[in-house]
Amino acid sequence: MSYAYDPTNIFARILRGEIPNKTVLETPYSLAFEDIRPQAPVHVLVIPKGPYVSYDHFAREASEAEIVDFTRAIGEVCKRAGVALDGGNGFRAVANAGMDGVQEVPHLHVHIMGGRDLGRMLQPAG
Ligand code: 5GP
Repeated sequence: MSYAYDPTNIFARILRGEIPNKTVLETPYSLAFEDIRPQAPVHVLVIPKGPYVSYDHFAREASEAEIVDFTRAIGEVCKRAGVALDGGNGFRAVANAGMDGVQEVPHLHVHIMGGRDLGRMLQPAG
C-alpha cells in the first residue's frame, strides 16, 4: 500500500495561495501559520510544502533536505512564539494522524501549542 494524498485538502489550498493564512514562517520546504481555531494562546501549525499525508508518510518518504528544513522550522517557530525552552515556558508539539489520531486535515501538520499550562496530554481511558 502507498500513501494516498488528496491535493484538494485545505492545507494544499493554502500552499497554492487559494486560501489566506496568517504566516509565521516560510522556508524553502515548510510553512508555519496560525491555527484558525486556536486552542491555546500560542497555536501554530507547521507543515511541509511537499504532499505528505502524515508524519509517518513524511518520515519514511521525505528527502533529508525536507526533513532538516521542517525540523528547523519547528525550532524557529518555537523561538519566535516565545515558547522555546531557552527563555520560554514550553509547549506541546502534536501531529495527529488518521482515524485513531483524529486527523481533520490530511496534510501533515505539527501543532505547536503553548502560552498556558496545557494540562495532561490525554484523558485516561474511561
Ligand atoms: P487536526 O485535527 O487535523 O490535527 O488539526 C487540523 C487543524 O487545522 C485544526 O486545529 C483546525 O483549527 C485547523 N484548520 C482547519 N482549517 C483551517 C484553515 O482553513 N486555516 C487554518 N489556519 N487552520 C485551519
